[in-house]
Amino acid sequence: MELWQQMVRDSVHSVDQLVEKFGIDRTVAEGLDEFFQARINPYYLGLIRFPGDPIWRQCVPDKAELDDLDGFEDPLQEDRMSPVPNITHRYPDRALFLTTSQCGMYCRFCTRKRKVGNSDKISMKELESAFKYLEKHTEIRDVIMSGGDPLMLTDVMLEKILKRLRQIPHIEIIRIGSKMPCVLPQRITPKLVDMIKKYHPVYVNTHFNHPWEITPESTKACEMLANAGIPVSNQAVLMKGVNDDAEVMRELFTKLLKIRVRPYYLYMADETRGANHFRTSLDTGLEIIQKLRGYTSGLAIPHFVIDAPGGGGKIPILPQYVLHRDEDRVVMKNYKGEIFVYREAHNSQPAPEVNIPIEVIEKNNGNGSNGNGANGNGSNGNGSSKKPKNYKEKIEVTEIAQSSN
Ligand code: SF4
Repeated sequence: MELWQQMVRDSVHSVDQLVEKFGIDRTVAEGLDEFFQARINPYYLGLIRFPGDPIWRQCVPDKAELDDLDGFEDPLQEDRMSPVPNITHRYPDRALFLTTSQCGMYCRFCTRKRKVGNSDKISMKELESAFKYLEKHTEIRDVIMSGGDPLMLTDVMLEKILKRLRQIPHIEIIRIGSKMPCVLPQRITPKLVDMIKKYHPVYVNTHFNHPWEITPESTKACEMLANAGIPVSNQAVLMKGVNDDAEVMRELFTKLLKIRVRPYYLYMADETRGANHFRTSLDTGLEIIQKLRGYTSGLAIPHFVIDAPGGGGKIPILPQYVLHRDEDRVVMKNYKGEIFVYREAHNSQPAPEVNIPIEVIEKNNGNGSNGNGANGNGSNGNGSSKKPKNYKEKIEVTEIAQSSN
């Protein structure tokens, strides 16, 4: 047995352990065990610094999970979009391929609780119909292996799947969605990366949510993947009491870059049953992105998205930087709240020389804008007095909100 397998075996998982280690009332612990069993391996358990800290909140069952009756069992409607067992086909050219129900740790906020835990939740016997589907659908060029966590499979089993996928000519890219680099980095072994790199291009999407998860062990794991030519990106979830703070996020994203992991997505927490206590307001997320954009490298800033309930897919959410747009101009504010004008291109004619004296009146001017034009004198400084169509002396912010994209 490999070290990581032993560590999975040594995880905290029973009702007795929940009562003993975390002081959870026995009846509550039994209810939580029935709702979604615990699995906290010794490595991740060792990252807890004090009760209720951001690591604790992600892995230790909480009574609040049993009080949440509003959430959905399958908030992203993955099952509705599953043409055959183990496949979700939502986007035109890519498919999600569920390969195991097991994970190195069971995250309390998991969106896929209905699929994770008991081995019968995702059947390995039904992989054949999934392969057949992938073979038949030539529009699929990108397969995302997920679960559960595909790196819970043995090297032998994982290689069988990778080999089979590589025999399908239209599948160009294989992605492995795995939280192992974060929650059980001992899983990333030289043998594993040597095997994976035979099936390039293979990408890994991992899932760090807090800077304390970046340790010498997880650093080594991510570097081993990167050294094997496997690009690693990160999908984080915004969660109350875990990372709902711009400074924590800045530290997380900049540290990820240092271990060669690209911050890729930041998700609003899904409306998953039992996870309501993790949810924040959308404004919290927007404020975090606004506090990062411009203040740190764009490489460190992920796409902020809501995975739309009902299976709508990922929808990007941006703070409002475009204040006004018409056929001639785009009026924008930068990260400091200063106003700038970009002239739209006009086909087959040189860009008109225009002088656009913009005066933006911000109703709620709490972002540092001086309420004047780009250079502070109400003009874009390019000379002519020719005014664009729809020109207005003053743009009210309420009007901008209605007219801009
Ligand atoms: S590793 Fe992923 S699938 Fe497994 S419990 Fe955590 S979030 Fe859910």
